[in-house]
Amino acid sequence: MAAPNVAVVGAGVIGLSTALCITETCPRCSVTVLSDQFSPNTTSDVAAGMLIPHTYPGTPIHVQKQWFKETFSYLFAISNSAEASEAGIHLVSGWQIFKNTHKEELPFWSDVVLGFRTMSEAELQKFPQHQFGQAFTTLKCDCPPYLLWLEKRLKAAGIQIYTRKVADLWELHRDYDIVVNCTGIGARQLLGDEKLFPIRGQVLKVHAPWVKNFIRDGDGLTYIYPGIDRVTLGGTREKENWSLSPDPDTTKDIFERCCSLEPSLRGAQDIKVKVGLRPSRPAVRLEREVLRQGECKLGVVHNYGHGSGGFSVHRGTAKEAARLVGECIAALQGSSSKAKL
Ligand code: FAD
Repeated sequence: MAAPNVAVVGAGVIGLSTALCITETCPRCSVTVLSDQFSPNTTSDVAAGMLIPHTYPGTPIHVQKQWFKETFSYLFAISNSAEASEAGIHLVSGWQIFKNTHKEELPFWSDVVLGFRTMSEAELQKFPQHQFGQAFTTLKCDCPPYLLWLEKRLKAAGIQIYTRKVADLWELHRDYDIVVNCTGIGARQLLGDEKLFPIRGQVLKVHAPWVKNFIRDGDGLTYIYPGIDRVTLGGTREKENWSLSPDPDTTKDIFERCCSLEPSLRGAQDIKVKVGLRPSRPAVRLEREVLRQGECKLGVVHNYGHGSGGFSVHRGTAKEAARLVGECIAALQGSSSKAKL
């Protein structure tokens, strides 16, 4: 069989990392990325990019942990290399704090991040309204630089990248043997997947270089995540809200909530407001499907629906999607050798 032609649809963190994993696991594949938007205009550009997993109720915890571990190890190696600043990857330490004494078991990811421990009474004095907290070190992606770094790696591997809106995956069947669907919230329109819904997030990106530690209120709504150049202040989680327009009242509310945790933010400068739609689903859709029209077949691998945690698990899900592409290739090879008999 000739080199399989693979189209990856979508150029957010999921599409770009999946395309990269496919070239790494199947160097003889000819991979093309097709997307209607690229960085800086994707949801992935808006994200804070912190490696603190979200929990998907429909995916077994051991699978989510594996995805997180693979992503953490991959980015940890980058953070420890000469590529770190160009890729926008760095370690960051800080606190997750709770207003009530926390009785929950340790989070499933507590032994993947570094130095996870309960905060001391002395540390908690920084947060007089909170009673309990956890301290740890994790990784953060500065999202636009990381997406550009992935794009650069793809181009260096000879991958073609085109701007194109795909109205129906079947339209790709003449030119490609396998299609990988990484369209994020776009899959709602593309496939009519009603399990997929937006959770709107508004954040502020501010200049406050003195803020070095992350602070996350345990409910996940208020957070301060320092990056290399900007600090991300959040946030909101508005289910089924499709609006991409920033709301000025929400901006004030986010700023006040963050200042109540870190009063020095009152001196923050150059406040930029961003909005993104988290592609949420009870479980990430990571599976093979065969589309059929008459005698014609098209192998599809879906990899979308990462909701609030796409950065935290992207490398793990990309590796699994690349493995599924390998299965599609094996199926194609099986059918082409049968055709020759
Ligand atoms: P996207 O980035 O939306 O990419 C989808 C791509 O598909 C785009 O390029 C789009 O143009 C393309 N596309 C869609 N439809 C079509 C079509 N029909 N034809 C062609 N192309 C198409 N996650 C974390 O892990 N940590 C965080 O700290 C974090 N913070 C966040 C903060 C906010 C405010 C938000 C909104 C999200 C946050 N997330 C975070 C979640 C994370 O951003 C998402 O899970 C992740 O970006 C999803 O990536 P994606 O590639 O699936 O989607």
